Order: sequence, then structure tokens, then C-alpha cells
Amino acid sequence: MRAIVWYGGSDLRIEDIPKPKLRNERHVVLRVKFCGICGSELQAYKGCSTRRVPPLVMGHEFSGEVVETGSDVKEIEIGDRVAVNPIISCGRCLACLRGRQNLCLDMKLIGMHMPGAFAEYVSVPAENCVKLPSEVDFEEGALAEPLANALHAVNRARPSIGDSVAILGPGPIGLSIMLLVQTIGVESVTVIGRSEDRLKIAEKFGANEVISIKNEKELMRIGEEVFDMVFEAAGSWQAVKTAIKFVKKGGRIIIVGLSHLKPMEDIGLMSITTKELDVLGSYGYTAFEFQKAVRLLSRLPMKEMITHIFPLSRAKDAFELLSQRKEPVLKVLLELDNGL
Ligand SMILES: [Zn+2]
Ligand SMILES: [Zn+2]
Repeated sequence: MRAIVWYGGSDLRIEDIPKPKLRNERHVVLRVKFCGICGSELQAYKGCSTRRVPPLVMGHEFSGEVVETGSDVKEIEIGDRVAVNPIISCGRCLACLRGRQNLCLDMKLIGMHMPGAFAEYVSVPAENCVKLPSEVDFEEGALAEPLANALHAVNRARPSIGDSVAILGPGPIGLSIMLLVQTIGVESVTVIGRSEDRLKIAEKFGANEVISIKNEKELMRIGEEVFDMVFEAAGSWQAVKTAIKFVKKGGRIIIVGLSHLKPMEDIGLMSITTKELDVLGSYGYTAFEFQKAVRLLSRLPMKEMITHIFPLSRAKDAFELLSQRKEPVLKVLLELDNGL
């Protein structure tokens, strides 16, 4: 089968590798349909992250059709259309027993610790497959993973009706967080970011206010201590600093982004104490949240976030587009089964 093999940095190669066999009797093999490119994979491509070890077939935001099932698999059948929760947890450690599979002591991610879905076929545990509702197509199915990330962040944040919310970083996760908090009935959502076209999408999705960080005046106008909660979905220490400044006394900050660079200046640690802030991390999602995300797909305009779809053979172009951002780009999917 054809697969996109990553050899570190921007070295991506299309290769012919053996089609995966069922790894055990509880596995299924999928014909991969669509797989999104995650911000963390882009970081690896840019050489900014050492979390993945090459050579590797990446890809953890995917949908597919079941083509083979292990002898112990009863709940999934050949032909089923599924989205896959890429977090593989042991099911036995204390974190798993508390339902926090994202913190499993032996957590593994498909596409990071084992071959992922930037390939025509992938072998995955049956319990990680969630059947797609009939009204959800394969493209939308590939968005279950980023939506699950957003859902977990919102569940961590526990917003109340009437809260004022700011979201730093209008990427797919930040925008998904916005769509979710809007359903709760918060007072307002302010989205702050760098990319004009992404801010426009935030506006279209109903943000009460969008502010470009390039516009110093606008940023100053916000003032300090204005939001009940601030989501950091930009993945930078500068955004964490901004969050600490903008959040009200006694407010809540949820850090979803992965900041790879060390802070170059004081981010306002003292204010965390003096403002008595609740600062929460959000990492991945539970198995329950992934199931919920699949069901929420059809109720949110997630599909409008897809700006580009590339065939497998043009994976390099897809990564370059995300890396250079020479044209407006939000969510990029790879289409793995159109033979191109
Ligand atoms: Zn991801
Ligand atoms: Zn575990």
C-alpha cells in the first residue's frame, strides 16, 4: 500500500510499504478515507517538536471503512463507517479507572507511537472505533478528533451561562471551542488571533468580537481583567501571558496549546497568585468525550473549517501550505482512497 513516511523535519516520502495485518484478534483494519493534519504534526515537520521519532507514518485525525475484523471483534463489522479515537489506553491504571484515559500511564497515540493514518490502510483496536451516524460523512468524521480536543477543554473549563469568554488562537481547536461554548449560552465570545482570514471565520461563526494581535490599539482597548475565562489555543508563551493579563480576578485560564518555546520574559506568574487564578491544562480527551464529539459533529458547522483537501500523493504540498500560509488555510485533510 502507499503511505506517507516522515523521516524527520520536512522530509516526507510517499512509499510502498506492506499493508498492515491485524495486530491481534481485537483489532480491525480500516481503509482510510480522510485524515486531517494536526498542528502538532506541522510542528514536527517544521522541526520544532521532538515528540515524534522518525521514521514514522503520522496521522491521528481520521475516518475510514472497516475492511477486516479480528476473530474477537463483535461490535464492528466489515463495511462499517467509523471515526477512530487515536488514544490507546491500558484500561487498568488508576487514570484509566477514573475515566481519564488521556492521562493513562501507558498512553499511546496512533500516528505517534504506532503507524498512523497517512496511509491507505491502518490497523486499530476495535474499541477505539466509533461508528459514524448516517448524516455524518467521512470528511466530517475526520474532524471528530479536533472536536474532541475542544470538548475536553470546555469540560475542563466548566463555563457558566452568562460568562464572558476569550479564545486566543482561532485555529480549528480554538474555533471548535467557540462553537461549543456558544451552545451553553455564555454572555460573549471574543476571539483574538493573528490571521485575518481565520478571524473572519470566527466572525462568521458568531464571535461577538474579533481582535487582531497585529492591531496594538485594539488590544490595548480591551484593558485588563475583562474575561471570566480565557482559552489559550495558540500554543505560545506570549498567549499565556496575554491570558493572565486579560482574565478577571478569580478567573480561569485553560491552556490547550502546546508551547514549544521557553518564555523570553516574565509571563506574569505573580498575577496567578495575586489574582487567585485557576490555571488548567487540557490534553487530549477521554474515550467518552470522543464518542460525544462524533455525535456532536452534525450539530455544528465543523465542515466549514475544511479549506483544502489534498490527495495522498500531494501530502508534501499540504504541509507546505500549512507551513507557509501563502493563502487562507484552516483545516487541511488528506484524501487517502481516491487513488491519486
Ligand atoms: Zn492532534
Ligand atoms: Zn491506563
